[in-house]
Amino acid sequence: MGQIKVIKGDITKVKADAIVNAANTTLMGGGGVDGAIHRAAGPALYGACEKFHGCPTGEARITGGFNLPAKFIIHTPGPVWHGGNSNEDQLLANSYHNSLTLADQHLCETVAFPSISTGVYAFPLERAAEIAIKTIKKFLLTAQIVNEVTMVCFDEKTFAAYQQQIY
Ligand code: ADP
Repeated sequence: MGQIKVIKGDITKVKADAIVNAANTTLMGGGGVDGAIHRAAGPALYGACEKFHGCPTGEARITGGFNLPAKFIIHTPGPVWHGGNSNEDQLLANSYHNSLTLADQHLCETVAFPSISTGVYAFPLERAAEIAIKTIKKFLLTAQIVNEVTMVCFDEKTFAAYQQQIY
């Protein structure tokens, strides 16, 4: 079975086969990690994203990596936290599952995720970390190609929350 790693760092610098972008439903860029990925990948990424005409929450779309060290970028809009009774948990699990499915279909062995929905979208961090790690573990049981999934945490608090979930 594949392995899960948790590191602290900037996902735009990670040399994985695919990195995941915590996008919004327009897929046309935004703040946080989305803005950082678009800046680092370069303007051609907008052209590639435009063709999708958006993406529903929990689904995922794939583009090339352009100027990033990663080969592919998988864009998934995570759920906005509305208090927990709007299917947020399932939608967050869908973002991880659907991103990993696309990675597997594109023959990616290594995949890196940011902490989806726990920034501007305000999903509670511990709850998000538990869902993320559970969903990744479950996926790795039947993955064909993906064999290493790294959570790339931007700050110490996020790093601690995911680190706690992998043991
Ligand atoms: P969302 O809208 O899904 O909540 P955000 O981008 O606001 O997405 O935040 C998601 C997480 O990504 C937060 O933990 C934020 O600190 C983190 N983040 C921001 N920039 C980067 C980066 N360059 N690499 C990795 N994580 C990042």
